Amino acid sequence: MVNNTDIVHGGLGSETQFGSLSTPLYLTSTFILDAVGKDKGYDYSRTGNPTRTELQNHLATLEGGVACSVHGTGISSICTVLHHFKAGDHILVTQDCYGGTHRLIDQNLTQFGLEADFIDFTDIETVRAAIKDNTKALWVETPTNPLLKLIDLEAIGKISKEFDLTYIVDNTFLSPIGQKPFEFGVDLIVHSTTKYINGHCDCTGGAVISRTEEWGERIDWLTNCMGTAQSPFDAWQVLRGSKTVGVRFRAQQQAALEIATWLEAHDKVKRVFFPGLESHPDYALAQQQQKGPGAMIAFEVNGDGDDARAVVENTVLIKLAESLGGVTSLIEVPALQSHASMTPEARIAAGIENTLVRLSVGLEEVDDLISDLDKALSKVKTPELSTSGV
Ligand SMILES: *Cc1c(COP(=O)(O)O)cnc(C)c1O
Repeated sequence: MVNNTDIVHGGLGSETQFGSLSTPLYLTSTFILDAVGKDKGYDYSRTGNPTRTELQNHLATLEGGVACSVHGTGISSICTVLHHFKAGDHILVTQDCYGGTHRLIDQNLTQFGLEADFIDFTDIETVRAAIKDNTKALWVETPTNPLLKLIDLEAIGKISKEFDLTYIVDNTFLSPIGQKPFEFGVDLIVHSTTKYINGHCDCTGGAVISRTEEWGERIDWLTNCMGTAQSPFDAWQVLRGSKTVGVRFRAQQQAALEIATWLEAHDKVKRVFFPGLESHPDYALAQQQQKGPGAMIAFEVNGDGDDARAVVENTVLIKLAESLGGVTSLIEVPALQSHASMTPEARIAAGIENTLVRLSVGLEEVDDLISDLDKALSKVKTPELSTSGV
């Protein structure tokens, strides 16, 4: 189990020449060889770099995997994994997965003959029914974005075993602290380290953690082949950020629970989506498969889309920005921002109302965040319960 000791000590002592406590940053593209074909462990930084190795070992430990490869962005990690598959292969993907994942598969990889269906993974029968002879993998994201619906990782694990499918989970929303997908038979875990793992919104990054050596070698090969590896500088940033992910994430989800509870009682708030509230339809599943509720909250305001916009444009401490998982709280309207590329019909079908607001809870004082939200919510013009804002 990951504890703060492991999180803080990962990578310490790797530098033996001078005893540098912090992992050195090896800003080099290439390495001097002792002889032709004889290196000191590294020959070229696309293929391998000691700073990157430290981050990779560290993230493998945090997730309980045997290997890890890190990439320039979360999407480059996802792209690297998906290049394992070939033309004619079919994959099943979580319907409301991250928009960039949807775009990559639907608008790009299908051009190369990859087949994909985006389905509702919350319904096990739907998953079974969607499996075809050429289905090779299940791509799961839980909780989903922005409505924080949960997918039963254990149930999907059984299906992946039964049909011999590669089981991949995007664990970005909960970090290795909030959820341990390898406990459920997952083969590969993907992270946008841009979010909780780095936690400071000062660089982008992605990671793929493998359950087996075979997968680790395959992902490493793809990373080198495609040139998607993370720069040593960014890897160093993510390694530094990751040392505090335990304390950050636990504090953030505690604050999120307080804020969600407060929002649920607010008369300008119609509905709150947060797996830590008993009103959440997947509350019991969250208790079972997650190590906590996470620190993302979605809520619908009373009124219409203009009211949601007024709320996000009137918080002061909570910054109006996309992304999540950092020390600074962020707020946005999915229908106008993170999910704007969906058609209005698709959004409505997915349950994403124009009145929906998404909040990433940071590390500010909870009381300050609540008072900021309270002032912003006072801008909602229609306090009476009204239409659903379609
Ligand atoms: C942000 C995000 C990604 C993409 O990561 P980038 O670092 O922005 O490329 C993938 N999956 C999820 C769940 C995300 O939140």
